[in-house]
Amino acid sequence: MSLIQISNDVAHIEAVPLADIAARFGTPCYVYSRRALTAAFEAYRAALAGRSARICYAVKANSNLAILNVFAKLGAGFDIVSGGELARVIAADGDPGKIVFSGVGKSREEMRQALTAGIYCFNIESASELEHLNTLAGEMGKRAPIALRVNPDVDPKTHPYISTGLKSAKFGVPFETAVELYRRAHDLPHLEIRGIACHIGSQLLDPQPAADAAAKVIGLVDRLGVEGIQFAHIDLGGGMGIRYRDEAALPTADYLAPMLDQLKGRTEMLLVEPGRSLVGNAGLLLTRVEILKHGEEKNFAVVDAAMNDLARPALYDAFHEIRKVGAGKTAGAEALRYEIVGPICESGDFLGHDRELALAEGDLLAILSAGAYGMAMSSNYNTRPRVAEVMVDDTTPHLIRRRETVAELFAGEALLP
Ligand SMILES: *Cc1c(COP(=O)(O)O)cnc(C)c1O
Repeated sequence: MSLIQISNDVAHIEAVPLADIAARFGTPCYVYSRRALTAAFEAYRAALAGRSARICYAVKANSNLAILNVFAKLGAGFDIVSGGELARVIAADGDPGKIVFSGVGKSREEMRQALTAGIYCFNIESASELEHLNTLAGEMGKRAPIALRVNPDVDPKTHPYISTGLKSAKFGVPFETAVELYRRAHDLPHLEIRGIACHIGSQLLDPQPAADAAAKVIGLVDRLGVEGIQFAHIDLGGGMGIRYRDEAALPTADYLAPMLDQLKGRTEMLLVEPGRSLVGNAGLLLTRVEILKHGEEKNFAVVDAAMNDLARPALYDAFHEIRKVGAGKTAGAEALRYEIVGPICESGDFLGHDRELALAEGDLLAILSAGAYGMAMSSNYNTRPRVAEVMVDDTTPHLIRRRETVAELFAGEALLP
């Protein structure tokens, strides 16, 4: 179902007109639908029904407390990559006992924080990290639960920046050394082996690479089982792709089916770590046209959102559908091909190329599929306060993050005496 519903010619999210949100909270502004977040989560739950499984939302995709809390209430676990994300999950009432901690460079302090919180599992990405965690757990009088993140070396066929499971990637430990490392982990006194993990990339549309990775991981689990190393869970990561434009993104159950086939008859708990597929299509960025500029070669619509608010177009040349919200003042305006750009002093500051729209200054635009890696990757470049975030719950728009003020941006800075 599309996030924006038109009723009586007015664009709504759930029962709230987008124009009302812009009027009340200003633009730019991220808007999410609680119903869409819930539906995406429930699609995973339904696809995994009948087997032992846990859905660990990848917090980095969108870490707003209200979003984490929606998933926590639905029973989600969480995949975190920093001490900051750990603090967010706890603040959002998430269960630390359902947290997995990924990342290649966990600091000692972050490990300590996670051990104190009692997280479910550390996903270990190197031999050194294994030793550091064992030492620290010993000092704290604890046993640290671990999985090794292995690198199955399958090609996920996605953008190189978001492909993480190839041999050349910085993530995970190579398959060949995993056996040795598990033996080492088995011998270390302050570690407890819980499982095995992999995550091969993001925005994956073809389900086969994930199924191939599952098969490889299972092979390793069986090989280690012969040596008496047991696994409570198998964590197959996240990465399911979504539709931004015309991608043939599969329904969740269809995407997961080949992977689940590989796991038939197995008793280990399955963990998945979806990020984008839970939040991406549940959010949009609402922005207003400030200036129309008609050049000789191109027409520009300068909007109040920019690359600091939504970095994906500038960073990955990513496509986001851009729709006009309502008729605005443009009844009768001529449809032209526009470059949709922000006010930032960079040529890379664009949100969309060559979009055919009938626009007038003051019109509202919705930049779709912006719920994942949108606000989470935003910055204060050009001293632009980060935008407001609103979550619609049926008839009510809730402000879930107020717009930053300029004063807040330099509150931590100091002049020389
Ligand atoms: C980013 C990440 C995810 C989530 O990826 P999506 O493509 O957003 O589903 C899951 N697990 C790990 C380890 C990650 O780094």
